[in-house]
Amino acid sequence: MKKIFWNSIIILNFYLILYFWFSNSHYLITGINPGSFLIALGRLAGLLSEFLILIQLLLISRFSFVEKEYGFDKLADLHRKIGLFLGIFLISHPLLLTFGYAKLNNINFAKQFITFQTGWSGVFTATVAFLIIVITAFISTKAIRNKIKYEVWYFAHLPLYIAVAIAFGHQVNTGDMSQGGAIFYWYLINLVAVGTLVAFRFIKPAYSFFKHSFVIEKIVKENDNVYSIYIAGKKMEQYKFASGQYATLIFLQKNMWFHHPFSFSDSHNGENLRFTVKSSGDFTSKIENLKKGTRVWIDGPLGTFTLEKSINKKYLFIAGGIGITPILSIMKSIEDKKSAILLYSNKRKEEIIFQKEIAESGIETYYFNTDPGVGNRINDQKIAKFCSDYKDRDIYLCGPIQMTSSLMQSIKNNGVSSEQIHFEKFNY
Ligand SMILES: Cc1cc2nc3c(=O)[nH]c(=O)nc-3n(C[C@H](O)[C@H](O)[C@H](O)COP(=O)(O)OP(=O)(O)OC[C@H]3O[C@@H](n4cnc5c(N)ncnc54)[C@H](O)[C@@H]3O)c2cc1C
Repeated sequence: MKKIFWNSIIILNFYLILYFWFSNSHYLITGINPGSFLIALGRLAGLLSEFLILIQLLLISRFSFVEKEYGFDKLADLHRKIGLFLGIFLISHPLLLTFGYAKLNNINFAKQFITFQTGWSGVFTATVAFLIIVITAFISTKAIRNKIKYEVWYFAHLPLYIAVAIAFGHQVNTGDMSQGGAIFYWYLINLVAVGTLVAFRFIKPAYSFFKHSFVIEKIVKENDNVYSIYIAGKKMEQYKFASGQYATLIFLQKNMWFHHPFSFSDSHNGENLRFTVKSSGDFTSKIENLKKGTRVWIDGPLGTFTLEKSINKKYLFIAGGIGITPILSIMKSIEDKKSAILLYSNKRKEEIIFQKEIAESGIETYYFNTDPGVGNRINDQKIAKFCSDYKDRDIYLCGPIQMTSSLMQSIKNNGVSSEQIHFEKFNY
């Protein structure tokens, strides 16, 4: 139902754009010079580029109603896929216009290009915006994204906001959206998209930051590589999240201010929040240096790895290493402890964390590690051995990506439906 609603809004706006384009460009489409037809198509490509950028902004805005339904990881995935179509429209826009006007003016492509840059108002800045968007899209392709640091990828996105502002100015000053009802409509959809982004990425977490005044209460070492951060604040009973969700944290301490996503590792207790972090890179290796009393900016809760999405009342939890964090939070929130089984794998016995809390949760648990006879790999035979009715349960998976994707594939092959399988990826 909700899917139909959001799809209808997208389709409606697509038709509105076609309508405004056709109303203002029909004389070009029906013109006798083939150049004018190319110009009309070029204008449409420009409008559709901006439309896709606005959809992309909405997808990463963390707009609660949509995020709750689909989860930020799926929305971020869609954001990336849309980038491909954006690239096609964006490159077509100047190409079609330059070819079109060259044909109309009976000059060659290069001459027309120079005339645009030197004689047409706003075209040079629009070219700068175009280059910013193309470079960002290139950096976001999987091949490049996997080679560069997350921070580089993130900061490379920031000039995009300037590019969007330039593109908007370019379109309301010239072209199909520069007059009548079209200009009003163009202002409206741009305002809605940018307003949603500002509201959910900045105003909502800012409200939470000032309302709760989050501070680090204590840091607890869980094993050689893993630390828990306890965060306290004001009116904590009013800070609500569902077990299994995560938040993006910024610690307002020197050299630690960059945002990172972490799952809540405890269920809601109305007093403090707990996040448990494994040292795995530049930032996480410095977690033990965090100081008590440091203020924390929290953007969240986010994510759909919760019991709300389950279809059965029986559960199988499978955790690998630090993947135990959201799972422990969920386990603690379950009332009928007999309804769940946990399979928890670690490379070595010393890496196991929260053993006491897991025991206190009362949930039947099997550990896998390199101790003689146990083995640390969980596979479908082990699942069937320790949880014979797993096909009748909702299965929650969190762990290293190789582990979760291979397990997901084998349990799907064994007949478990996709709706029964829930997983949290620890990278976007
Ligand atoms: C939904 C979710 C929940 C998570 N929960 C936990 C948890 O409970 N405990 C835990 O230890 N880890 C968790 N992680 C993983 C954690 O966020 C990364 O390990 C951490 O951000 C790595 O940062 P780094 O600079 O130390 O490592 P790096 O070596 O710089 O990064 C390693 C990889 O982590 C990802 N990454 C880095 N920085 C960010 C960022 N700011 N935002 C998103 N991804 C980033 C990138 O894919 C990068 O390639 C979670 C991740 C996600 C997406």
